[in-house]
Amino acid sequence: MASYKYGNYFDKSEGAEFDQEHRPGGVTSHSGIYRCMGCGKEVTSEGGNPLPPQNHHQHTAAQGQIRWRMIAKAHH
Ligand SMILES: [Zn+2]
Repeated sequence: MASYKYGNYFDKSEGAEFDQEHRPGGVTSHSGIYRCMGCGKEVTSEGGNPLPPQNHHQHTAAQGQIRWRMIAKAHH
């Protein structure tokens, strides 16, 4: 789970971009922290670049496919 110390550097968003799940290797529109919804692993990804590929990490059958979801968005 992502952590932060100073909450005043974050603002609450209802943006739909936080609900979108991305496939492994998918190109994202936003830079930020992405969480795998299968196992909870987190990565940083830069907008316009691909997310980590399918072979980034292994899942059990119960965890299903790697699905990346943005949990924190960076503003440039
Ligand atoms: Zn995973």
